[in-house]
Amino acid sequence: MKVGRLDRGRGTLIGLAVGDALGAAVEFKSPGTFVLVTGYRNGGPHRLEAGEWTDDTSMALALADSIGTVGWDLNDQANRYVQWWKTGTYSVNGRCFDIGNTTRAALSKFAAKRNALTSGDRSEDASGNGSIMRLAPVPMRFAHLYPSKLDELSRLAEESSLPTHASDPCVSACRYLATVLAALIQGEDRGKVLSATWKPLQQINDIKPLHPLIQEVALGSFQRRQPPAIQGSGWVVKSLEAALWAFHDVETFEEAVLKAVNLGDDADTTGAVCGQLAGAYWGESSIPKSLRSGLARKDLLENALAKCVSTNPN
Ligand code: MG
Ligand code: MG
Repeated sequence: MKVGRLDRGRGTLIGLAVGDALGAAVEFKSPGTFVLVTGYRNGGPHRLEAGEWTDDTSMALALADSIGTVGWDLNDQANRYVQWWKTGTYSVNGRCFDIGNTTRAALSKFAAKRNALTSGDRSEDASGNGSIMRLAPVPMRFAHLYPSKLDELSRLAEESSLPTHASDPCVSACRYLATVLAALIQGEDRGKVLSATWKPLQQINDIKPLHPLIQEVALGSFQRRQPPAIQGSGWVVKSLEAALWAFHDVETFEEAVLKAVNLGDDADTTGAVCGQLAGAYWGESSIPKSLRSGLARKDLLENALAKCVSTNPN
């Protein structure tokens, strides 16, 4: 069944939250050391209730709220991340319990200097997956820029990374992932979008070359490798590769996100990135009802969806 654009747009954010919540219980566990995840469960390093989600979803909600409220304003995006960090706004339980080191350092710098364009660390050492994990609102709101205005979509994706993750691998990963997600939301075929000869991949490289390691992923490293070469790592390169590996050849949303989170380690984030891909491709309606209804604080998710899902069919 071919689902509609609205279903796929909503699926991108709901998918992110579902993957995050599924992975939260096994975050930081090495693969093979836990009972495989088949649904929501209590526990994990933050002792969450089943169905509760983490920083990945909180930051996506902050980004969606910013885009939907003020349009495109990086300082406003960073301000909302600071609100989450300092006061627990956008959090599932009203407090920020899991901010990453790179994000905290960047937001401290932003709080002091008030310039989100320069607050993120540009060094390659600071290449965590903290900006791809929250990316969904950008392709959701700007999917219509695919395929004719890829330069603009690519710029917005790049900028969305800068407040906290300004290294070339992080920015490149956001540019590539946003293009893939926008294409899927617009109804493109998965095999075509993930092929090494996909024209938009060449086009975004013509705009500005992707970092070589991100380009290697985009050219299909995830199609050739298997665990342990595939890892649910916090490093943006391996995180993106793992999410694509889990997504690229399975038949259902559920299969994809469970494959992603069962890699362990940064399981919530591999789940969140894979959930964006799988939700954008199969749509919200393909997500099992138990996973949708079991999500915590659906009111917060619906607020964000109302702000950033474009109902414009073009
Ligand atoms: Mg998390
Ligand atoms: Mg994580």
